[in-house]
Amino acid sequence: MRPEILFPLFASVATLGGVGDKGEKLLQRLCGGRVADLLWHLPVNLIDRTYSPPLINARPNLIVSLKVKIIEHVAPKTSKQPYRVICSDGTDQLTLIFFKVYAQSIAKNLPVGQERIVSGKLESFNGQWQMSHPDYIVRPQEAPSVMGIEAVYPLTAGVSNKILNKIIKQALQRVPRLPEWLEPNFSKARKFPTFNEALAAAHRPQNAADLLPLSLPRQRLAYDELLANQLALAMVRREVKKQCGREIKGNGLLRKKVLDSLNFKLTEAQERVLKEIGADQASPYRMLRLLQGDVGSGKTIVALLTMLNAVECGTQAAIMAPTEILAKQHLETIQPLCENIGIRTELLTGRTKGKSRTKLLEDLAAGKIDIIIGTHALFVEDVTFKDLACVVVDEQHRFGVHQRLSLSEKGNQADILVMTATPIPRTLVLTAYGDMEYSKIDQVPEGRKPVDTRVMPLDKLPEIVTALQRKIQNGARAYWVCPLVEESEKIDLAAAIGRFESLQKYFGSAVGLVHGKMKEKEKDQVMESFKKGDIKLLVATTVIEVGVNVPEATVMVIEHAERFGLAQLHQLRGRIKRGFEASTCILLYNPPLSENSRARLNIMRETEDGFRIAEEDLELRGGGELLGTRQSGFDEFRLADLSAHKDLLYTAHKDAQMIVAADPQLQSARGQTLRILLYLFEKEEYAMQATPLL
Ligand code: ADP
Ligand code: MG
Repeated sequence: MRPEILFPLFASVATLGGVGDKGEKLLQRLCGGRVADLLWHLPVNLIDRTYSPPLINARPNLIVSLKVKIIEHVAPKTSKQPYRVICSDGTDQLTLIFFKVYAQSIAKNLPVGQERIVSGKLESFNGQWQMSHPDYIVRPQEAPSVMGIEAVYPLTAGVSNKILNKIIKQALQRVPRLPEWLEPNFSKARKFPTFNEALAAAHRPQNAADLLPLSLPRQRLAYDELLANQLALAMVRREVKKQCGREIKGNGLLRKKVLDSLNFKLTEAQERVLKEIGADQASPYRMLRLLQGDVGSGKTIVALLTMLNAVECGTQAAIMAPTEILAKQHLETIQPLCENIGIRTELLTGRTKGKSRTKLLEDLAAGKIDIIIGTHALFVEDVTFKDLACVVVDEQHRFGVHQRLSLSEKGNQADILVMTATPIPRTLVLTAYGDMEYSKIDQVPEGRKPVDTRVMPLDKLPEIVTALQRKIQNGARAYWVCPLVEESEKIDLAAAIGRFESLQKYFGSAVGLVHGKMKEKEKDQVMESFKKGDIKLLVATTVIEVGVNVPEATVMVIEHAERFGLAQLHQLRGRIKRGFEASTCILLYNPPLSENSRARLNIMRETEDGFRIAEEDLELRGGGELLGTRQSGFDEFRLADLSAHKDLLYTAHKDAQMIVAADPQLQSARGQTLRILLYLFEKEEYAMQATPLL
């Protein structure tokens, strides 16, 4: 249960004064609908309203705050003229200008003969001072609320900075005095303010330096957020590890047979990674290891050998893929190899139904199936195992922490191997997985020819079609990828279908179409025909993004390449790098191309090294984009900025380790305060899985 002290922070913004239904919706869109969301919404700039010169020697075009006396109202004579209010500060006159405003409200706010503080941009027009639509008009006794430094927030249409400042001020007043969860010595050494002080200061910047991520208040807030993240992960991790694993040490016979049946030798990197995994499996603790390897580096065989080690010990193994197509693909690779050695593999997806599903579940529960390959369908409650000792999760970043854990719960202290082709920088590995063990296949099998990558404008289309026709006549198969993103889904889909139709004119029935809006069954049929070669040119939205294996496909055209993330382009290009044949990738762009886009596409031409591409992409686009979209499953931080706060992340990581080692249930006095921290940043969900006490 959320500690009571935090209740005010998780109340709706509608409980704040001046926020109606409409305001609630707007704020919801801007930053989130709860008081805490407003607190995490930090200013990005500031306006200095302290400049208050006598008008006689003021400088124009600056923001000023002036005490003036209202002399006269001049109503407009035509609708095009503004309403004017003549004022004076005793040294000179100032005309306030209003377009399209009710005269009554102006008269009320600026009564003739009285004094007011007006704040806004001072302009000089025909030698006269004027200010149009002052940002603030207040009574002299309210001067301090205006004549300071105003925080400037990211806004959305319908929410002005003035209003947002007022609302956030109220939100800040709701913050209860929270106990300190950081070690006093640590805070002191870092010169960190308390959480309450930090929050107040972050919303009250006094100069440009206060807005930087390295200002002390912002560092403190970032540290709190990172610590909550690392602590939650460390707790989950400890729980997984605590359940003493089992010592999986197969006799190697099955593995040897499979290796002998392959027409290639493992790369050194594959061998090394298998040793690392094998050592984990053999140890009395549970394995929790991330396996990272670029597209085509040969992760599947590593997964299979890992699972066979478990099968050699008489246990079962499961491999889970994010999509049906990928699961089937694993089946197609793994099943023949396993049949050879008398090992039973089966596929379980959302489409496994009726009697065949019942039978499959029976066999699985009875231990008659050695390796099960599937999708999310493996999580379903009625799926049980006789003795599941090894779980491989492919392309993990699409699964949440919860899903990962729930499959491992079906096992009997099962080892977990998570595989991903996405080059994840160390900082993201840490924030997404904590200190999961980490292996990397940093080598692709020898003999692969580089992909000939070209960057071309869309108007070269006729030539490309001619070249494609020639290639296809010579037996090649090709992908034609069109972008499809959520924001412009309809238009994108229409464009993809349009392209398919126009290519039909040249390729007739040899061209097929597959997109994300099709039924799984239709998709499968099209993919099947492409694999068999009935379809030779496959127009696809990004559904082929991950893992599909058609060795004959050696050409890929990517339309609107400038709209894709580099990591995504890299993954896509990986699809035509499966065989040993030279392949071609054409990145088609819609001119004109911005400098930045050109630089990005050139990186694709220059290198095939996924890690280098990821790093350059990070430089050019910033972290959030690296993994494509938000659906990547990585935690998003509200206060921490991983590029600026890297060092804080590493420190938080160590801090979390120490906390969990010393006080795994968070029961000490500090532990109690850390629970508040977990709830404050809503990490209790992970942590709860680890500690029933929370
Ligand atoms: P990924 O890491 O992208 O999942 P795969 O496991 O699908 O890569 O392997 C890509 C292709 O490389 C497959 O056709 C596989 O049989 C082949 N392969 C894997 N390991 C080797 C190796 N050591 N030597 C040659 N080919 C290999
Ligand atoms: Mg793969």
